[in-house]
Amino acid sequence: MKAAFLKKLNSELEIDDIEEPEPGDDEVVIEQRYTGICYRDILTMQGFQPRVNIPVIPGHEISGRIIKKGKNVESFNINERVSSLIYIPCGKCEFCLSGNENLCVNKRIFGESVNGAYRKYINVNMNSLVHVPDNIPEESSVIAACVTGMIIHALRIGNISEKKTVLITGAGGGVGMHAIEIAKTYGATVIAETTSEWKKKAIYEAGADYVVSGSYSKDVKNYGGADIVLEIVGKDTFNESLRSLKTGGSLVLIGNVRPASAEMPIGLIIMKGNKIIGSLSSTRKDVSEALQLSSEKRISPRIFDKVSLNDVNRAFDDMINKRNNGRILIDLNK
Ligand SMILES: [Zn+2]
Ligand SMILES: [Zn+2]
Repeated sequence: MKAAFLKKLNSELEIDDIEEPEPGDDEVVIEQRYTGICYRDILTMQGFQPRVNIPVIPGHEISGRIIKKGKNVESFNINERVSSLIYIPCGKCEFCLSGNENLCVNKRIFGESVNGAYRKYINVNMNSLVHVPDNIPEESSVIAACVTGMIIHALRIGNISEKKTVLITGAGGGVGMHAIEIAKTYGATVIAETTSEWKKKAIYEAGADYVVSGSYSKDVKNYGGADIVLEIVGKDTFNESLRSLKTGGSLVLIGNVRPASAEMPIGLIIMKGNKIIGSLSSTRKDVSEALQLSSEKRISPRIFDKVSLNDVNRAFDDMINKRNNGRILIDLNK
């Protein structure tokens, strides 16, 4: 089969032929139809992930049907549909044992410390797996861990509930468009921030109540202020986001597109009793909830493009230049 490899940082991925994998004792082999391209894959290519083991097959957005399994795998069977976490939790540390496996101190991340998903057949540890309901499209199961489940995790950490106002930055991107839809399923009011004029129509169609841009904190305050900010962009919007919060509100950090530090107005944070919280990936519980929302047709996958493995470098370029307003998937049947 074909697989894409990152062999050198800041270089294009290379397509090579490799053997199809066999499962280890604790693993299954999954046949994938799609895998998602994540901005994290681009940051890895650009050298921002310290734990990357080059050469590596990138990609961590994994779902499909089990075609082989190892002798210790009991909870999953051949032909069943599964989604995978983006990492392999150890199953033994204090975080794994308390259901917070996203914080596992021993986790290995697909596409960085172990070979990832840019290939049709992938071996995955059983500790990473979640069952997928039969009635949902492959396009939903593939984004359940890193997009929809990750957003559910972040909104929960921010204490989402009905009647709260959520500000979403970078709302026109792959994560942002799904975040709008998911925040609406909780009954929240959604204010969406974007710098791309052409994305505004799609943002409203996704369910946003208001769209803001530029120095947006004044506008957000005019709409009553934000109880929760989902900070997807990071450094570039951090300060305006902080100033958009209500007293007692929470800024939940989920992305940092241009990795760098932000200045922190400490006095303002104290005076308004705000919380700044990092939200990391998703747990199996989050992924199951995301799949359930898809199964109930309360959220739908927002796919911008489906490209072949050979076109993965072009897709990276589209994302770097913000030409996408939804997820780009690799179609592994192409
Ligand atoms: Zn991802
Ligand atoms: Zn662990």
